[in-house]
Amino acid sequence: MNPFFLKILFSIGLILLINSALQAQTNRYTFEVDLKKVKDDKLQVTLQTPTIPKSEIVYCLPKIVPGTYSIYDFGRFATEFQAFDSKGKKLKVEQIDSNRWKIAKADKLAKIQYWIEDTFDSEKDNFVFEPAGTNIEEGKNFVINTFGFFGYFEGMKELPYELNFEKPTGFFGASSLKNTKTTATNDRFESGTYMDLADAPIMFNKPDTTTLIVGGAKILISVYSPNKVLSAKFVGENISTTLNAQKDYLGGKLPIDNYAFIIYLFPNMSKSGSLGALEHSYSSMYSLPEAQPEYLTQVIRDVAAHEFFHIVTPLNIHSEEIHYFDFIEPKMSKHLWLYEGVTEYFASHVQIKSGLYGLEKYIYVLKEKMNNASNFRQDLTFTELSSKCLKETADQYGNVYEKGALIGLCLDLKLHKLSNGKYSLRQLMADLSKEYGKEKPFKDEELFDKITKITGFPEIRQFFADHVEGTKPLPLKEVLGSVGISFDEEKESKRFGLGNIGLGMNEEKTGLIVSDNGEMDEMGKEMGYQINDRLIKINGKALDLQTAQEMIVDILQNAKDEDILTVEVERTVDGKKTQMELKGKMKGVPDVEKFAMKADPNATSEQVALRKAWLR
Ligand SMILES: [Zn+2]
Repeated sequence: MNPFFLKILFSIGLILLINSALQAQTNRYTFEVDLKKVKDDKLQVTLQTPTIPKSEIVYCLPKIVPGTYSIYDFGRFATEFQAFDSKGKKLKVEQIDSNRWKIAKADKLAKIQYWIEDTFDSEKDNFVFEPAGTNIEEGKNFVINTFGFFGYFEGMKELPYELNFEKPTGFFGASSLKNTKTTATNDRFESGTYMDLADAPIMFNKPDTTTLIVGGAKILISVYSPNKVLSAKFVGENISTTLNAQKDYLGGKLPIDNYAFIIYLFPNMSKSGSLGALEHSYSSMYSLPEAQPEYLTQVIRDVAAHEFFHIVTPLNIHSEEIHYFDFIEPKMSKHLWLYEGVTEYFASHVQIKSGLYGLEKYIYVLKEKMNNASNFRQDLTFTELSSKCLKETADQYGNVYEKGALIGLCLDLKLHKLSNGKYSLRQLMADLSKEYGKEKPFKDEELFDKITKITGFPEIRQFFADHVEGTKPLPLKEVLGSVGISFDEEKESKRFGLGNIGLGMNEEKTGLIVSDNGEMDEMGKEMGYQINDRLIKINGKALDLQTAQEMIVDILQNAKDEDILTVEVERTVDGKKTQMELKGKMKGVPDVEKFAMKADPNATSEQVALRKAWLR
């Protein structure tokens, strides 16, 4: 953009701002942001304030937002905070802390202005994980996590919000928020309360979107892929099966009628170094690497399944701590086993239930969770982990996705066993949604008793007392045994490998190649791997990136000494690509297998029937 052009845009923007300043004050927050006026990587936020019935008021940006379980202090990113009366005269402002500004003569207040710097490329300490962050990339992309830009006056979170954006021509603002006015260069979004506003991110860029209809609900997918590696269409095709499976899992109907998947892809590594997403009631915000689509298929499916299942909990089942969320001094609920644990359990259980996973793959997923959970503190109760996760137990938070999911597993299997396969965790969630719901929170203290009452099983109360409020190890052997899956925490076994080679992705990121053959074992030498050999088939089965891991694990787990391993590779010899078959005799290394699980071939018909009820 040349400077002359910028000048014209600037004056048009100015006229619009003056116009809106003349509008009468109402009982709502009216915000304005001009996305075409980026200055020093910042955007200016203007608020036409609602009428303030007090002589002094405090304006807040959140210290923390729901779903993140970390303190981010979004006020850190605001600068040049100014307040004005209706004649444009400045009012006295005192900054109380990172997130709050006290404004004098608030009954005269008409306008607030400040600049927001984005978090994605921030050099500040305490980096904001991207799905909860903000992005200002002039002319390209804007990630407006609303809580990062817009605040509220203390005691006035319930007023409605109106957000007005000026945007570059051709830009689209993807959000679950109601868009009440859209033109080529403007968007107006409206929401009920601050809680609703903070629950809905917006992403602006040149559109790449697609819409799916799942169980009558309209699902928007919006993708920002700077190098056009991934498309919304691909994501849509990829997650449509999972979403439909989730709909069936929830009894054929979804508790929402619209939803948005908002996906930002990093061309290189994201600054946080991680990928992931943040859930909201009607949308989820993703930050993923811009890798080859094949590589991302399972990741997107898993993450999307998890985030989408949050429409059950916390959306429809949550405690008062979440319902009346305090953005400055939050109290944490003790039920993260429910919000994150059950959600994570459902996200993989739905995949075996709908046939996307086989039993082997599902066991592998569970085993990973058990392994990961074993690295966290065993002397900490899950309720304490939850309620103190902002401070004392922050380093244990990751366990909500590991042990949390295993609590879900145990609970589901216990309910199946106690009811002879007639009642499940899914039904319990449906019953809890009916009992509570979006507008009716439960009291943190009453939930375990309520669940016991709904299910009618006192054993369930004991389960919570022992394993969620207490530190007794989860009864994995017992619950898995009830569905005919043997479980040993440690089992002597033999470990097999492909020959102790390193595997990596080829340059085109379309296949697996041998990346290291420096420390091959006896079999590896017999096979004669060479660097850059591309793996085509193993034991006659074609290898593709999506299923490679599962296939190799399957082969190695079922291997015996003296088995012949055949690997067909593509090798470049004298500049020519040739395919050849490598063979070697397998030899296991004595090993202790942790968390060994296997479908028991001698399971009783009762166990098999219960397994079917659980997995079909
Ligand atoms: Zn989650």
